[in-house]
Amino acid sequence: MEKQSKSGCKGCTLEELENYKIIHRDKEKSGFILNYAMDPEVDGHLVVQPTFHAEQLSDLCEDQAERLMRIIWACCKTLEELFPSSKVYVYSLNEKKDYHFHVHIKPKHENVAVKGPCFVNWKDPEIEKMAKTSAKSHFEEIVKRIKDNKYMRRLG
Ligand SMILES: [Zn+2]
Repeated sequence: MEKQSKSGCKGCTLEELENYKIIHRDKEKSGFILNYAMDPEVDGHLVVQPTFHAEQLSDLCEDQAERLMRIIWACCKTLEELFPSSKVYVYSLNEKKDYHFHVHIKPKHENVAVKGPCFVNWKDPEIEKMAKTSAKSHFEEIVKRIKDNKYMRRLG
């Protein structure tokens, strides 16, 4: 089933997303796009979202849900290879109206002391500084390493 985009939805148009940050895009019209986070909170912070408008996981059909999990799995395997001593968290939070469903895949690196449910609120201060300055090459290098990973290449 082909799904539609919703006018005015930032997630449907992916405006503001810099091209180098796109890691994978499904060929199917009702597929998924995987990108490096617009405002990365830590190194390796990824976001996967449908290319059509959906507001929650249950808006996906079964095939789409399976495809999404396949992409998330590849992200986790890739990040574990890139950052072997880090944990990888997967989450989706939906508070806003007309929210475009997306899933965060966010490594928790060794230097982060926070434990428990507040993990979504922590940010690496060094990454925050870099994101605000012109350290684009730092993120480009990580994106390149993610794209080159065997699990990512297998996504097709
Ligand atoms: Zn949308």
